[in-house]
Amino acid sequence: MGDVVAVLGGGQLGRMLALAGVPLGLGFRFLDPTAEAPAGALGPLVVGELGDTEAAARVADGAAVVTYEWEGVPADTARSLESRGATVLPPPGALDVAQDRVAEKTLFRRLGIATPDFAPVDDRAGLDDAVHAIDLPAVLKTRRGGYDGKGQRVLTKSGDLGDAWRELGGRPLILEQLVPFEREVSVLAVRGRDGATAYWPLVENEHRDGILRTSRAPAAGAAEGTQATAETYAERVLDELDYVGVLAIELFQVGPDLLANELAPRVHNSGHWTIEGAVTSQFENHLRAILGWPLGSTAPVGASAMVNCIGALPDRAAVLAIPGAHFHDYQKAPRPGRKVGHVSVTAPDDGTLAERLAMLPVSP
Ligand code: AMP
Repeated sequence: MGDVVAVLGGGQLGRMLALAGVPLGLGFRFLDPTAEAPAGALGPLVVGELGDTEAAARVADGAAVVTYEWEGVPADTARSLESRGATVLPPPGALDVAQDRVAEKTLFRRLGIATPDFAPVDDRAGLDDAVHAIDLPAVLKTRRGGYDGKGQRVLTKSGDLGDAWRELGGRPLILEQLVPFEREVSVLAVRGRDGATAYWPLVENEHRDGILRTSRAPAAGAAEGTQATAETYAERVLDELDYVGVLAIELFQVGPDLLANELAPRVHNSGHWTIEGAVTSQFENHLRAILGWPLGSTAPVGASAMVNCIGALPDRAAVLAIPGAHFHDYQKAPRPGRKVGHVSVTAPDDGTLAERLAMLPVSP
């Protein structure tokens, strides 16, 4: 029996980590609150809350390393495993930062990483003060627990404040300037235990209703300077957090400038294209990194796109009939707004990629 990796969270990211790790001789164990968690098909699943330190300890027992596939994992769970002698990577401190939008943006600022203007909002008067400081249009978000655009309201006029407060108030909030971005991009980095670092090419991401729909990589027309800026941002975060593993930072591009929106201390949806579109996928490199193994090349093997399947899967045979297309079924029960799979398309060049994408039975 080879090394076992314990994964906190058993969603599609955990599933794809295992799909990358099994050929390396690794075994996997997962902790997830639901018995139907998608990763359960790939290894033993302990059903328990992610805040349940005893259940987490059972998953971590004897594992070579513990990692997590969701940034909502309580940092205390990760720390409790460390105090029992487990190696937890990325370090639990990354969870503290990623779970609080104010902490995250404050860290970015301190590291000289540009962000949208922001202000914490703790009460109704604080919302007026923040709007005064930042101006409208702006986005009001919950500081904690929001994902896929949940817990957010765009404010365009002062008349919007009352409704937004009724919906979101009573919890710690953040107000952010609404950035008139040209596009959204993300940078994915990986750092090994020995400090070796590699970056995949910038990814261009299209969101609709706050949910990632499509990623394309390498991002079209990304100037060398833009790639370099994104890498510098990621490097500062990696250094600051003594990071090991894959890190993603989502950015807004405005002209030549990049403003950091949020970080994910884990493998990321905008990196799924790397499974077929890069020499080494984000999942394999995350495992190599946390196990102290040499990193693989992050070079792209052509032009790639990834389309999320939201709410339902397209016809599998129709996807597989397209050259360069790959089908990923997470085996999740279909539900509106839920990511149930993705389709990747790779091609030798951008023109061929566009032709292949036009054949997809899901809209890119
Ligand atoms: P988030 O949960 O912060 O990733 O936000 C989800 C999506 O909402 C982002 O990918 C953007 O499309 C949009 N969004 C969030 N914050 C801002 C902002 N400050 N300015 C403009 N768009 C935003």
